[in-house]
Amino acid sequence: MRRIYLDHNASTPVDPRVREAMLPWLGAAAGNPASLHAEGRAARRAVEDAREDAARLVGGDAREIVFTSGATEAAATALRGAAAARATPGRLVVSAVEHACVLETAAVLAREGWTIDALPVDRSGAVDLDALDALLSRPCDGVVAMAANNETGTVQPLAEVDRRCAAAGVPLHVDAAQVPGKLAFDVRRLAAAATVVLSAHKCGGPKGVGALWLRRETKLRPLFVGGGQERDRRAGTENVPGIVGFGVAARIALEELAQRRDGLLAAEGALLRRLEQGGVAFQRHGPSDPARRLPGTLSLRFPGRSGEGTVLGLDLRGVAVGLGAACSSGAARPSHVLKAMGLAKEECLETIRVSCGHGTSPEEAVEAADRLIDVLRTSPGAPPSSLQPV
Ligand code: PLP
Repeated sequence: MRRIYLDHNASTPVDPRVREAMLPWLGAAAGNPASLHAEGRAARRAVEDAREDAARLVGGDAREIVFTSGATEAAATALRGAAAARATPGRLVVSAVEHACVLETAAVLAREGWTIDALPVDRSGAVDLDALDALLSRPCDGVVAMAANNETGTVQPLAEVDRRCAAAGVPLHVDAAQVPGKLAFDVRRLAAAATVVLSAHKCGGPKGVGALWLRRETKLRPLFVGGGQERDRRAGTENVPGIVGFGVAARIALEELAQRRDGLLAAEGALLRRLEQGGVAFQRHGPSDPARRLPGTLSLRFPGRSGEGTVLGLDLRGVAVGLGAACSSGAARPSHVLKAMGLAKEECLETIRVSCGHGTSPEEAVEAADRLIDVLRTSPGAPPSSLQPV
């Protein structure tokens, strides 16, 4: 049976063009970008070319890009690095639906004396702008709001958030890990943006590499010190193959944005239509307005069916999908994102995440829907309440 991979928000396959570009740097090209010789200079050039591509992806300047080991490190650098550059702890407003790498970093800051206030979201997962106004009426040292949610695909009203932060003189930290190849993004339109977090493996690049866009004026104390790499913002020999791969992935994600969006929308449309034709009862979480959703991301609830059972049933039938956030897969714990949207625990535990890739064909999407219908028809629906949160 041909397997169908529909968990692209967790990680994407490496694009063959990316792999091709990386190969020399995994072989004979041994230079350290810090070395003076020809091999070192070649590695430096490759890293700097990738920096240009990563910067272009977000509309920034190459000097504002810091390569990291992924979005998690980029978020930690943005938040803990900025905190460390201050004399005293401050106050941070963090949206309730951020990725764990942001929420856990905020929790570390809280233990270090910071006040962390949650920014609530509405039933669609969009941040509550009135609540933001109220939260910004008190002294604030930063707002963290993601561009689009990895679980539900909800696109945040970032322009409105930015306008409020700019008016209050508060820096905005944005997790844009899910954006490349799906949404247009430009920091030049975000006056308050201080940092933007990116990850290569969400857009056809390799795992273990990411970037932080850091507005030039942003003060930051690096998490790692040593050889002074990345303009003293992140020490350690650069991951040259990974960075080269990220650069190519970023370039083609930007070039192919329109066609990727079309591909994602075609795949999700085909899947949903097939489920409807099959008479399946389901609920889709997130905004009803397609302009407010990431194309290709489907957060689906099948009432009376445990999400875990559905994911495992699909896996046995050759389809890979997610259960809430990838990081909590395997643990039947209600997703903090769905809980923040006001869903009951049972509803959270009945939800799966299907995330198509731009390469997912409508035929594959239909085949996946057929296998899903088969799971729902043939497997007994374990009552979700039988799942013990761990
Ligand atoms: N932020 C978001 C929105 C994500 O979806 C992810 C990955 O799941 C991350 C951050 C963490 O990325 P990385 O795996 O590069 O650390």
